[in-house]
Amino acid sequence: MTIKKVAVIGAGTMGSGIAGQVANAGVEVWLLDLPSNGERVNALAERGLERLRETSGLMSKDYEKLIHLGNTRDDFHQLADCDWVAEAVVERLEIKKNLYTQIDEVCSDNTLISSNTSSIPIKLLVEDMPIDFRKRFAITHFFNPVRFMPLLELVRGEDTAQAVMDEFERFCDQELGKGVISCLDTPGFLGNRVGCFAIQAALQAADEMGLSPVQADAIFGRPMGIPKTGVFGLYDLIGIDLMSDVAQSLVNTLPETDAFNREAPKLALMVKMIANGQTGNKQGQGFYRTVGGERQVIDLKTGEYTKAERLDLPLALKAEKEGVMHLLNDDSIYGQFAWRVLSRTLSYAASLIPEVGNSPLGVDDAMKLGYNWVKGPFALLDEIGIDYVISRLQKEGRQVPPFLMQAAGSSFYRVDAGNLQVRVFDGGWQTISRPEGVLRFNEKRQTLTPQNTTEVASWFNIDGIALVEFHSKANALDGDSMAILSDAIDQVEARGLRGLIIHNDAQHFSCGVNLQAVRNFFMREDMDGLDAFLAHFQNTVHRMSQADFPVVCAPVGMSLGGGFEVVLHSKEVICHANSTMGLVESGVGVIPGGGGCKETLYRWHQKLGGGDISEAAWKAFMNLGYGRTCSSPILAREQAMLRSNDHFLNNRDRLLPVAIAAIESGQGQRAFERPDLALPGEEVFHSMVKWLENAHAEGKLTPHNVVVATELARIVTGGEVAAGTLFSEQDLYDAERTAFLKLVSTQATRARISSMLDTGSVVQN
Ligand code: NAD
Repeated sequence: MTIKKVAVIGAGTMGSGIAGQVANAGVEVWLLDLPSNGERVNALAERGLERLRETSGLMSKDYEKLIHLGNTRDDFHQLADCDWVAEAVVERLEIKKNLYTQIDEVCSDNTLISSNTSSIPIKLLVEDMPIDFRKRFAITHFFNPVRFMPLLELVRGEDTAQAVMDEFERFCDQELGKGVISCLDTPGFLGNRVGCFAIQAALQAADEMGLSPVQADAIFGRPMGIPKTGVFGLYDLIGIDLMSDVAQSLVNTLPETDAFNREAPKLALMVKMIANGQTGNKQGQGFYRTVGGERQVIDLKTGEYTKAERLDLPLALKAEKEGVMHLLNDDSIYGQFAWRVLSRTLSYAASLIPEVGNSPLGVDDAMKLGYNWVKGPFALLDEIGIDYVISRLQKEGRQVPPFLMQAAGSSFYRVDAGNLQVRVFDGGWQTISRPEGVLRFNEKRQTLTPQNTTEVASWFNIDGIALVEFHSKANALDGDSMAILSDAIDQVEARGLRGLIIHNDAQHFSCGVNLQAVRNFFMREDMDGLDAFLAHFQNTVHRMSQADFPVVCAPVGMSLGGGFEVVLHSKEVICHANSTMGLVESGVGVIPGGGGCKETLYRWHQKLGGGDISEAAWKAFMNLGYGRTCSSPILAREQAMLRSNDHFLNNRDRLLPVAIAAIESGQGQRAFERPDLALPGEEVFHSMVKWLENAHAEGKLTPHNVVVATELARIVTGGEVAAGTLFSEQDLYDAERTAFLKLVSTQATRARISSMLDTGSVVQN
């Protein structure tokens, strides 16, 4: 019972996403939908593949060849030799039941079958099916978009065989890269039960307290450790009609006494919006819209749109940086809103234990993996303080759920004898154990003491290996981050540790150098200070590339700019399959100054097989000039951003053990060889400048784009020197710093950096 070939029925949002992720795992898959009239009988399945392309559901176009398109009339027999049939058709019980009967006629006794249903109990799905079918059936509930959302809720039926559950768990975890959570067959399972509650509670609170969508989203977002889309932005993203249907389907399946019912109703305005087709991003207008480049927001009372003014709330910034307590201690309408939403959501989550399971771990995991919350509700309760929440609830005459009461004076998580434990209902503590080969650093970290730490980075000794963790906002890098990295390198040598890993468990590895730090330098006109910062950055990453011990970088999410320069100088990269990487500095008017230009040139030169370096110089010039990013390791390899010995894994929670094993084996860990390069010199430099002038004349580049890219051209060609002039690695580092300082001295670069910091977008100058 090993899944090697898959069929997905229903090529809509979810079916196409599931088929895409199966293909990303290198597994062959049939994607079937209903037949269409006319010549293109597979039009619906073809549309599914198109949707995958539009949403970057595949790691690269190459994976398309693993997906066979078909229809349920002509191609149903293809299911006969499939090991897993995943049903993802519309949420209609009769349609699903009919399909199961057909599947049973065609498939072998070994085929696993699952439904992606969000709301239909498993009992109802299989009530008419023979026991043999029911043994092989489970619910595999994926989240949208399937490639990017790590959560998979796996639900067992009364008759599902253990071997079936084991194979679903293995395949979805190890091959599809999902965080698999076993759930009971309760309405909304874990993620949607709590996630929808939180969204609805925020929606109702904003409406009743008279907060605008902009105000509500400023709080119900990063300050609470929730994605910045907020509540109204999320409604627009999901679709106001679809989200209302999800809420309604929960109401239909939950008992009348469930607290969700109070939060579920649509706002009066939403009924009108749905009727008018103002259903969110898919229609170009919802609670927000963009008209002529202006972002507008709806007035919840009148339904009129006005300009969405940027809201600068110091309170929100403070909470984002230092914790949610700042919101709860605040008397303003924002603080009251935060308490109302959080107290209801956290109480609701606590009230679900033990109905949805004895341990709160599944709920916390589901909210992190399925809703991208930084912390789940129970970890948040620990952060806020359980006694604080209980006493405030009691003061307001509100009920305290029994499980919350059980934790009075204590916590939901603790470290005991080096083990992370979680409180279980009525039963004390349970040590958290993950599947073999899974290790989340944010859990491991709680059992370790940092060897050296600052506000922005720390390093740990993890079983004789130094692990550097960045932990500033967006993991932006500054002098202190590099000081920690540098100290870890020193100490690996001094203490004879086995190697160095750079890794963190945040959403993104690092979004680059802290631009505020750069602005501070130029506001003080401290160019020597900026030069010293760059030199220290270069020197630190250089030491990683030259160390005589193994150095592994294990990035997840985005590794951009300076963050990617750290990745580039690691001897081995073991990254997550959904990593996005690139050197994007040109956008803010600078060039990569931490060895990024140099590495891009060397790597293209190597990839193109050495010899005349002109072509490599052009490739580097184009990638750096356009600030090209690659949204998968496969694409990054094609663009010389990753090497053939760099690996990727589909499951981000498996990166760290693989990185540790790579350090232990030390194989393929060689110091970078960076011989002097004979650069192409002035002829190629002038052709690049000419190319820039033409692009500018055609209106494709702004004047300052030309200035920035001219500096890039100078670095990768050597500039106005004779062809063949030799440049050492250090010459290239120096050229980067010279160009960086020159550009930061211009008003145009300063304007770009400031606009990025102050408005979140870059002025086109
Ligand atoms: P969708 O409407 O986008 O796609 C459903 C597809 O099923 C359509 O292409 C339709 O033509 C096809 N279909 C209908 N009847 C069929 C039949 N008899 N045979 C073959 N194909 C048929 O729906 P979706 O959003 O992809 O949802 C699919 C399932 O996944 C539902 O059970 C839904 O509850 C669940 N789900 C959806 C989401 C989400 O965010 N959209 C998330 C998790 C689970």
